[in-house]
Amino acid sequence: MSEATSSLHIFNSLSGKKELFTPIEEKHVGMYVCGPTVYSNVHLGNCRTFISFDLVYRYLKHLGYSVRYVRNITDAGHLEHDADEGEDRISKKARLERIEPMEVVQRYTVDFHQTLAAFNTLPPNIEPTATGHIVEQIEIVKGILDSGLGYEVNGSVYFDVQKYNESNNYGILSGRKLEDMIHNTRSLSGQSDKRSPQDFALWKKAEPQHIMRWPSPWGDGFPGWHLECTAMSTKYLGEQFDIHGGGMDLKFPHHECEIAQAEALNQKSPVHTWMHANMLTLNGKKMAKSTGNNILPNELFSGSNPVLSKAFSPDVARFFMLQAHYRSILDLSSDALEAAEKGYKRLIQGIELLADLPISNKSSADVNMHINGYYDAMNDDFNSPILIAQLFDTVKLIHRVKQGEDTLTKSDVEKLHKAVHHFVIDVLGLTLASDQNEDTYLDKALSVLIDMREQARANKDFATADRIRDELLAKGIHLKDGKDGTTYGLSS
Ligand SMILES: [Zn+2]
Repeated sequence: MSEATSSLHIFNSLSGKKELFTPIEEKHVGMYVCGPTVYSNVHLGNCRTFISFDLVYRYLKHLGYSVRYVRNITDAGHLEHDADEGEDRISKKARLERIEPMEVVQRYTVDFHQTLAAFNTLPPNIEPTATGHIVEQIEIVKGILDSGLGYEVNGSVYFDVQKYNESNNYGILSGRKLEDMIHNTRSLSGQSDKRSPQDFALWKKAEPQHIMRWPSPWGDGFPGWHLECTAMSTKYLGEQFDIHGGGMDLKFPHHECEIAQAEALNQKSPVHTWMHANMLTLNGKKMAKSTGNNILPNELFSGSNPVLSKAFSPDVARFFMLQAHYRSILDLSSDALEAAEKGYKRLIQGIELLADLPISNKSSADVNMHINGYYDAMNDDFNSPILIAQLFDTVKLIHRVKQGEDTLTKSDVEKLHKAVHHFVIDVLGLTLASDQNEDTYLDKALSVLIDMREQARANKDFATADRIRDELLAKGIHLKDGKDGTTYGLSS
């Protein structure tokens, strides 16, 4: 293995430290990322999480690992309140809209895929669903009951957290202590079947009105939310695998419960490296639909949200997100996006110059130093902001070579060209498409046509002037004559 591939360090949420990454099986990486609950449009904060893990996936592939990337779709079992209470999120949406739960699932799975494709994220290798793995989940519940760490009450099965904690550490990932949790929780109301409020559902009995239900040894019901990830990660990646990722908000209770379930089942810690991506705020505040401080991806792409001054392409939004480290909170604002857009254009323009730089027979700059800088940044816990800063250093070098202030040999230019493209396109996942300039091109083309029409009118050639107007209208572009000249609008 080369030095680049053998010196990747990843911050492990389990140890709280950056650790040298060593896969369980040489050259292979198993990675599981908690996917969306498909009951509403994917929000931008979730997109940031999936873009962060797309960066991880891309860099591992770039290093030559064969990666099996599993990301699930939660299409059942996720209740409104994380503490096993309330209605199933998908059933609720189906009831409100008077459609089938699977219509809800289909609609928002399509939205999720389209949005992530717009952000140029690579699809995972396996995208399993909770409803497709009910049999596996029932088997795990049986296994946990056999281990003595689960108990059945009235057709529901719960995980006995206190008993588990006698020989394990419930709180190992989140750093919480069970005694504190017990101390800080009010006692259960008489209605709960749980022995203790910290216990969580492995299987829930379905009330008669509950639509999404399956037969089980304990009667008709549905799996607890944490169970699906244990079932699907174990099935596709084994009892122990390399990386498990998700949003910071999943660390507790979701991931803590996953660890407990797997330990109860297999008596070993399921995951070597736990990774958590931080959240996205909007204008300094937490995003929430209820307060209106919220923005959807398609509003970002169309500019149709009052917090935005204009539309931003998915490429610019992705670049903006990657300018922050995945473990830092990132604040989105119109100004910050505009700054990112300018930066991104500068990067594209610099890279375009690489194609025809003047060639010398001696290099005055050290190209390897630049390229090693890219690897050093990414090997330091996927530090994309440092990588982008290094790429801007390279852009400065490109301009100096262009202006004759520095020189590069043909092979150095080629080497740099290759490395820059690898890191920008393959690793950062930017398309380098100039589609962020699309509006300007349209502006330019239309100003030519508007000038031609003006000229025709000045020459009293009204037939040509009208033809330009009418043919544009037929294509959905309408011209408006005002006192400051002619402007255009799009009809769609
Ligand atoms: Zn999960």
